[in-house]
Order: sequence, then structure tokens, then C-alpha cells
Amino acid sequence: MNEHAPLKPIPKLSVVAPCHNEEENIDELCRRVAEVCRQSVGESFEIVLINDGSKDRTWDTIKSNVEKGNHVVGANLSRNHGHQLALSAGLSVCQGERILVIDADLQDPPELLPEMMKLMDEDVDVVYGQRTKRKGDSPLRKAASDIFYRLLQKLSDVEIPLDTGDFRLMSRRVLDVLLSMPEHHRFIRGMISWIGYKQVPVYYERGPRAKGETSYDLKRLFSFAIDAFTGFSVKPLRFAMFLGIGTASVSLIYVAYIIVRNITFGTPVEGWASLMAAILLLSGIQMMILGLLGEYLGRVFQEVKKRPLFVISEIVSPQDDVKD
Ligand code: UDP
Ligand code: MG
Repeated sequence: MNEHAPLKPIPKLSVVAPCHNEEENIDELCRRVAEVCRQSVGESFEIVLINDGSKDRTWDTIKSNVEKGNHVVGANLSRNHGHQLALSAGLSVCQGERILVIDADLQDPPELLPEMMKLMDEDVDVVYGQRTKRKGDSPLRKAASDIFYRLLQKLSDVEIPLDTGDFRLMSRRVLDVLLSMPEHHRFIRGMISWIGYKQVPVYYERGPRAKGETSYDLKRLFSFAIDAFTGFSVKPLRFAMFLGIGTASVSLIYVAYIIVRNITFGTPVEGWASLMAAILLLSGIQMMILGLLGEYLGRVFQEVKKRPLFVISEIVSPQDDVKD
């Protein structure tokens, strides 16, 4: 680094958006975000866009926006790391005093920023977007998401607000704690709830995607849900134990009944069907519990390896200084 280069001032606001195959949305995203940032903080902002191994021209579009004068910083990941890790990479790169997390597909309106900034001025550390309506999602996805958030709230050890995404404004001190949390299976909205401080909602209607298609198919949503449950609760393990105690108690009673019946009436032991039913039921339960244990164990295994969360191959910022 040039010793005489002036230190860059810290921006008042960083906007961070992970981008996976979002080439059609990035120009519009930068335009709308820059406009609303200028209203709130003048020129003291940056827009950090992370290219998460896109297969289309997302990275080229990000680079061309870096040159347009909207304070865009681009970070290119070495491959597709997934939404939560891409977002974590962006959060590690951004410099701002306050940080707005937003999806690149414009489902969350950047125009809510002034209202969120105002709430932050009142000693609030996190303003999270809470969805009153979800226009973009299919009925099946809405139902699944409703069940997911409610079940998570029941199981989780921390209070995670219902119907929120990652769209939120947070203070630097919250981000610093978030960045110090090393887990690989990240459920960022829950991790931010865990951090605490004063967190308040701002209500909004979530629109459909501006362009392109969601990257969350059913398989990805399912593994995201499992990450949330296993990351925020050990109650499923306890449930497994209670299920075990329950079935063992019922079996004991049944065995006692058979013994007593045999002794008093001398009736022979009954047939094959009931035996098979019991074996199948019990082995099914056992396998399910083994799988559950495996989920937790697998996560422990991945955590102990202590690999870095992501690999950034390139950062492009407005002064054309490309850092490797
Ligand atoms: N995303 C990402 N990496 C991925 C999948 C998604 O960075 O592997 C980004 C995507 O570009 C978007 C955000 O994460 O900005 C949310 O993804 P998407 O819109 O597909 O999810 P949905 O809104 O349907 O939950
Ligand atoms: Mg989306």
C-alpha cells in the first residue's frame, strides 16, 4: 500500500447484497439503493455486492457498476458458497458505521431505508424488516414458511421474530459480534437475534422478484430449515430421548401383560404380524433418531475442521485498486 495515500473515511452506511445469477437486477439495484442512500447520508455510503459464483454475467455487471460513481464495491467469491456465506463475505468486507442487508432481487424495498435510519437514531441497534405480505411466493412456499417460523420459535432457545428475512439495518457493534461468530452453518437472522441489544421491526409487504428466478428450490429450503433448527436448538435431541422413554415404557407394560397372561391363562405367544409391526415401528424410530444424531454430529465435524467460511478471489473498489 502507498504510505502517502490518505486514509479512506469510514462511510456512514454500507449496503450489502449477495448476488447469484442476478445480472438483470444489478443496475436497477445500484440505481435505487444509491438514490435512497443519498437522501439519507449524502455521499457517505458504499454498496457492497458479492458475486456468489454466478453462471451469468453478474460479475461483469458488478464491475461495470463500480465505475459508474455510485460507490459500489464488488467482491468475487471463488465459487458458489450459498446465500448465507456470500452475505457473510460481504459483511466482512464492508466498512460502514451502519449496515443494511438487502437481497439483490429487489424483493425488499430499499426505499424503507430513511424510516429504518430514523428508528436507529433512537438508540436501536437492529431494525429488521417484518413481512406483512409475501406477494412473490407460491402458496406452498408460504405455508411451509409459516410452519417453519412458528416451529422454530417454539424450539429455539432465543426469540427469533416471525416472518423476517435478512433484510435489516444494524449497527457496527452488532456486526462486529456477528463477524466474531465462527459457525459454518449460518442462519444469520437467528444469529442477529441471539446477539441481543434493542431490535425493532419495520413492517413491509414483500414483493415478487424484479427479474430472474429464485435460487432456493425445495432442497435448499429444507437444508436451510435444518440449519436453523440444529443451529438454534438442541430440543430435537431431547425429543428423541422422550420418544425413547415413551416407547420403552409402553413396551414394558406390554411385556408385563404378556407374561401375566401366559402365567394365568397359559395362552401361547401370539403371532408373527404383531411382532413384525413392533420391530418395524421401533427400528423406524431408531433410524430416525440416529439420523437426527447424525445431523448434529455432522455439523460438529464440519465445525471442528475450522475451515474459513468463504474464499474471496477479488475485490474491486471505485479507485480501480484491485486487491487479490
Ligand atoms: N443468493 C446467493 N447465493 C446463492 C443463492 C442466492 O448469493 O447461492 C442471493 C440471491 O442473489 C439473492 C438472495 O441471495 O440476492 C436471496 O436469494 P433468492 O432471491 O433466490 O431467495 P428467495 O428470495 O427466493 O428466498
Ligand atoms: Mg428473492
